[in-house]
Amino acid sequence: MTVILSVFSALLLSVSLAANSDPSLDNFLQCLPNNSLPSYPISEAIYTTDNPSFESVLLTYINNRRFLTPTTPKPLAIVTALHESHVQATVVCAKSHGLQVRIRSGGHDYEGLSYVSEVPFVILDMFNLRSIDIDLASETAWVQAGATLGEIYYNIANKSNVHAFPAGVCPTIGAGGHISGGGYGTLMRKYGLSVDNVIDAKVVDVKGNILDRQTMGEDLFWAIRGGGGASFGVILSWKINLVRVPAKVTVFKVDRTLEEGATDIFYQWQQVSTELDKELFIRAMPQVANGSVEGTKTIRISFYGLFLGQSGTLISMMNKRFPELGLQQSDCIEMRWIESTLFWFDLPNGTSIDVLLNRPRGAQSFYKNKSDYVNHIVPKEALERIWKMMIKAEPMWMQWNPIGGRMSEIPDTATPFPHRAGYLFKLQYSINWREEGTEATDRYISLIREMHDAMAPYVTKFPREAFQNYRDLDIGSSPSNQTNFEEAKEYGLKYFKGNFLRLVKVKGMVDPDNFFKHEQSIPPRWM
Ligand SMILES: Cc1cc2nc3c(=O)[nH]c(=O)nc-3n(C[C@H](O)[C@H](O)[C@H](O)COP(=O)(O)OP(=O)(O)OC[C@H]3O[C@@H](n4cnc5c(N)ncnc54)[C@H](O)[C@@H]3O)c2cc1C
Repeated sequence: MTVILSVFSALLLSVSLAANSDPSLDNFLQCLPNNSLPSYPISEAIYTTDNPSFESVLLTYINNRRFLTPTTPKPLAIVTALHESHVQATVVCAKSHGLQVRIRSGGHDYEGLSYVSEVPFVILDMFNLRSIDIDLASETAWVQAGATLGEIYYNIANKSNVHAFPAGVCPTIGAGGHISGGGYGTLMRKYGLSVDNVIDAKVVDVKGNILDRQTMGEDLFWAIRGGGGASFGVILSWKINLVRVPAKVTVFKVDRTLEEGATDIFYQWQQVSTELDKELFIRAMPQVANGSVEGTKTIRISFYGLFLGQSGTLISMMNKRFPELGLQQSDCIEMRWIESTLFWFDLPNGTSIDVLLNRPRGAQSFYKNKSDYVNHIVPKEALERIWKMMIKAEPMWMQWNPIGGRMSEIPDTATPFPHRAGYLFKLQYSINWREEGTEATDRYISLIREMHDAMAPYVTKFPREAFQNYRDLDIGSSPSNQTNFEEAKEYGLKYFKGNFLRLVKVKGMVDPDNFFKHEQSIPPRWM
């Protein structure tokens, strides 16, 4: 982190200082102590641009270097809430002094919406609010928004070997953004999404009140479970259901190249992966690799598996249902569920689970991601075309995630997340680079857009759906300071389908003046 911070801090400084002269900032800063408890001095949580730690606070929770350039707009101040009352004060004071608030928990938003805005803004940083209280007797836990997934997993494992929580693969993601955006991971086929396992929440509303499920009512509780928290209020904490896992689970990773029959195997994977037992989740990850002949390129597909059971049972199931993969006992590793979270993050076997406690450490690379849903098997000829396009778009990679299982049993109106029964795969495209400058950025973004365009025949249509946790401003956006219904409909229907209209209704009820907004937020009115 130190290296990255020092490289960028000089660039940031000039921009940051220029921002310090906003009169609404002074009013905001004066307002804060009057609206928070003296027993928890809010002064200790405030970072303005003249504070020597301003830059490191800002940068540590920026995950994408695309939003860490001299021209990226910077906040006027950051409030790193140390107590719930600081969140209340920030909302009340920003509202009364006309400042926009961007809420940040883990800072992993793919488009940087938690820490960038085109209008004067402050960041409400939640990383200090990260307690995790586990109650094994009721198999539940309260987790604060600033807790990372790694910390949640670690704390559960500290209490029990046979409990888990269904959420994402990257341990530094924040619970605030991840869960309010849906949240899926390797337990999706067995237990659904994170939001399917949330039973209560604490939220600060636009008036600065703290609400729980009972006081917020079922409409708002529905909306924040997948509709994106930042349109509705500030999530302070979630009450989650812990789910049961066996004391030993089995993981595997099997790579196959085109020369080794990857296309046929992938085609067969499409037929079976959504129909297999719920206990088995197999992700397929095609990416470009060197061919067997020097100077040539091929596609290597990595099949990553998590089986909630022992390897013997897995092997006999695979021999019956998916022999084409050729899974061997030697490919399988039995381990505790908590260890499997490290495996899925590509950490070497034997890595200490303490790494799950590592906090975000600033942006490592530039990236752009996109998503799709697939509801028909993609024919082999089309796969061949897709591989050719991928080789052209190198270094882009894809992740195909099978749905089915528990996901198909939950109605698509149960939460704002609509992509459930009838869907085969959630697809993620990703391109990462390290070269600086707009030329490189434009070039890599064009590559992923071309790939996405070329995939149109094989994915959902009218609308072409997308996953809101894989934020993508290409699918539509509103300006930073207003949310126009027609523009919002563009992205809203893609992320939420018919649930978008219910989200608009809830937004109108809880935030009619549209205080909580960003480029892809929910508008408070139909027109
Ligand atoms: C490396 C990587 C791996 C990923 N893997 C997965 C995965 O396996 N599964 C998956 O589902 N997603 C995955 N994602 C996407 C990730 O879940 C989303 O980007 C998520 O929104 C990040 O949450 P955050 O709190 O870290 O981000 P932030 O950038 O802090 O927030 C994201 C959004 O949520 C809002 N928000 C944050 N905190 C709050 C709060 N307390 N109250 C209200 N609104 C809030 C922000 O304003 C912003 O709009 C991954 C992302 C990355 C970068």
